Amino acid sequence: MSEEFQDHQIRDVIKINYKYTMGGQSKFFIELKNNKRLLGTKCTKCGKTWMPPRINCSDCYEPADWVELKQTGTIEVSTIVWYTTSAFIKAIPYGIGYIRLDGAETALLQGIFSENLVPSKIKKGKRVRAVFNKLRDGKMTDFFFVPEVEYDNWISKPEYEGGV
Ligand SMILES: [Zn+2]
Repeated sequence: MSEEFQDHQIRDVIKINYKYTMGGQSKFFIELKNNKRLLGTKCTKCGKTWMPPRINCSDCYEPADWVELKQTGTIEVSTIVWYTTSAFIKAIPYGIGYIRLDGAETALLQGIFSENLVPSKIKKGKRVRAVFNKLRDGKMTDFFFVPEVEYDNWISKPEYEGGV
């Protein structure tokens, strides 16, 4: 007698505590957490300024030095997020985009929040400024960008603050 295989499945949860290192980019996250500073790197040979920071220049492979960048920038491209993970579900809809900070030559992918979000508020070329969580863990989710015109409103909320 041949029977068709029937897979029996049980749904369960695995909880794992672990830690990981940011390696050579640790300084970025430490400065973000402790001092609300946004650090990029500048190539010691060609002078290109990287954000997110690169320990070695991705163009010429030479070492790069840490440099502090301004916390204002320009949106290069963006979209509105409607589907996300459980960590961000309460924030939808929110923007996400590549932002080129003033002084950097590359763009950082980061969240863009806006009150009464509509696409025109976060379109290419719009100016944004970083807002920081008051409680920071040294993660990319410690900060996000908002339209410059909304900055004062955002930093007046109890859970957020302005940068340096
Ligand atoms: Zn270089």
